[in-house]
Amino acid sequence: MTTIPNITIFDTTLRDGEQAPGASLQPEQKIQLAAKLVELGVDVIEPGFPISSPGEFAAVEAISRQFQQVEICGFARAVQGDIDAAVRATRDAERRRIHLFLSSSDIHLQHQLRISRKEAVAKARQMTAYAKQYCERVEFTAMDAARTGIDDLIEMVEAAIEEGATIINLPDTVGYALPGEYGEMFRRVREGVRGGNNVQYSAHCHNDLGLAVANSLAAIQNGATQIEVTVNGIGERTGNCALEELVMALTTRQESIGFSTGIVKEKLYEVSRLVSGAMHFPMAYNKPIVGRNAFQHESGIHQDGLLKDRSTYEIMNPESLGIPRNMIILGKHSGRHALKDRIARYGLQINEEELELLYIEFKETADRLKVVSDDLLLQMVSRTMGITAQNYELGEVQVLAGSAQNRVAAITLRHLHENRESSHTSTGDGPLEAVIAAISQGIDAEITFVDLELHSLSAGEEAHAEAAVTVECQGTIYRGTAVHQDIVMAAGLAYVAACNSALTVFPKA
Ligand code: MN
Repeated sequence: MTTIPNITIFDTTLRDGEQAPGASLQPEQKIQLAAKLVELGVDVIEPGFPISSPGEFAAVEAISRQFQQVEICGFARAVQGDIDAAVRATRDAERRRIHLFLSSSDIHLQHQLRISRKEAVAKARQMTAYAKQYCERVEFTAMDAARTGIDDLIEMVEAAIEEGATIINLPDTVGYALPGEYGEMFRRVREGVRGGNNVQYSAHCHNDLGLAVANSLAAIQNGATQIEVTVNGIGERTGNCALEELVMALTTRQESIGFSTGIVKEKLYEVSRLVSGAMHFPMAYNKPIVGRNAFQHESGIHQDGLLKDRSTYEIMNPESLGIPRNMIILGKHSGRHALKDRIARYGLQINEEELELLYIEFKETADRLKVVSDDLLLQMVSRTMGITAQNYELGEVQVLAGSAQNRVAAITLRHLHENRESSHTSTGDGPLEAVIAAISQGIDAEITFVDLELHSLSAGEEAHAEAAVTVECQGTIYRGTAVHQDIVMAAGLAYVAACNSALTVFPKA
C-alpha cells in the first residue's frame, strides 16, 4: 500500500483570521482556540503578530510555551524590530519558525513602500539573513506575489533562498488570481529559481472572487505542499482559504488530487462552531461543510433518493465531520416517504390511513410556515394518532426586561404525560437567560443546555425570529427550532422542542 503524502496545514485563524473586522480576540481566548486547533491536528499555528501589541506578544508567547506538539510561527514585517519581537515571543516553543513578509509587486513597491526593486531585493536578502541567525526555519512571503511579474518574483525568492529561507509563500494577497494563473506561477517559480528544490512552497489565498480554495488546490497541483488557511475562511475582507473546505476537497477527491492531511475531521464542526462563537462571526446558512443547510435536503425527489441511498445526493457523510444529525428539513417539497421516516426516528409507527391524514395537514402547514420543525410535526402526529408524543408544552411566559439589574421570567410548563402543570420563576442577565433558566427548573430529566442561535427572518409575515437550541442528553446532541414574532418566545419554544426531541427518543425511566 502506498501512503498518501500530507499537505502541511498552516492555520492563521488567530492572525489573518483575527484581522476580520470585529473578530478580535482576548489573549486568553487565543490560548483556548489554539488548544482546539492542536486537537484538530493542524501542523503550524500562527497565533498573532507579536510586534503589534503587548497583548498579541503575550498570546504568542503563552501559546509557544503551552503547545509543544505543533510548530509555532512568529509573524513579522521584513524589519529588524518585528523580527526581534517574533523571535522573543516564540523563544520557548519546542518547534518554531519566523515568518517574514515583504511586498514583491510593482504596485506595492511604488505606491506603498516607495522603494526601488533593487532596494526591495536587498531588504529581502538582509532580513532573511537576520532572521536566520535566530531560527533555523524561516518562511519568506513575497506579498502580492500573484500580481508580481514572474522574473521579479523569481529574483526576490532566489535572494531569500540564498540567505536560508526554508519555506517560500507566494500569496494572492488581494484575491485577484484565477486558478490557472496561480498554479502556473508556482510551476514557473519552482522551475526558475536556483536552489528552489530545497524549499517547501506555500499558498495563501484570499477569497475576494470566491476562488481561495480553488486557487489553493491549483497551487497544490503545481507543487505547493503547505496551505495557509483559517477556520470558517475568516480573515481580511472576504477572508482566506477555509480550512474545512480545503480539507474536505482533498479528502473527498483524494483519488484525483493525491494528497491528504493530518486533520481530525470529526472535530471540524466543533472547531467551526467555537471559532464562529468566539469571533462573533455567524456562518451563512449555505456555507460549505459547516453551514446549517450544508447537509439539508428539501426537494422531495432528493429526500426520496437520500432515504433509499445517501450517495444519491450526498458526497460527504456529515457524521464523519462531527455534525450532530443528518436532518432532512421538512418543508412543502417533502413527500410522504420523508415524513414517515422522520416519525419512525421517534420510535412511532404510523399506519397508511393516519399518514394520509397527517400528510394533508403537514402540506397546509408547510405552505404557511415554509419549514415544519420536529416539534410541530410531533404535535400533528399526536393529534392524528390520538397519542401524546411530547413530554412538555410551554404555557404562559412573562418576562420583565429593562435597564434594572436583573431580568425576571415566570413560566408555566405543561407535563403532557402526567396531565399536570408547573410554574417556575428565575432571573438572568438577559431575558433569554431568565426564560431558559426558568424552563430548566421544570424539565425533570438530565438535559444540558448547550447553545442558542437566533436569526431574524425577513421573509414571511408570521416569521420574525427563528431560534435554534442545542441540548445534550446521555451523550447525544439534539436540536430544537421554533419561529415566533417574539425572540424570547422563539428561544423558549426551541428549548422545549429540543428537550422533547431528546425525551421522545430517550423517554424518562
Ligand atoms: Mn492574508
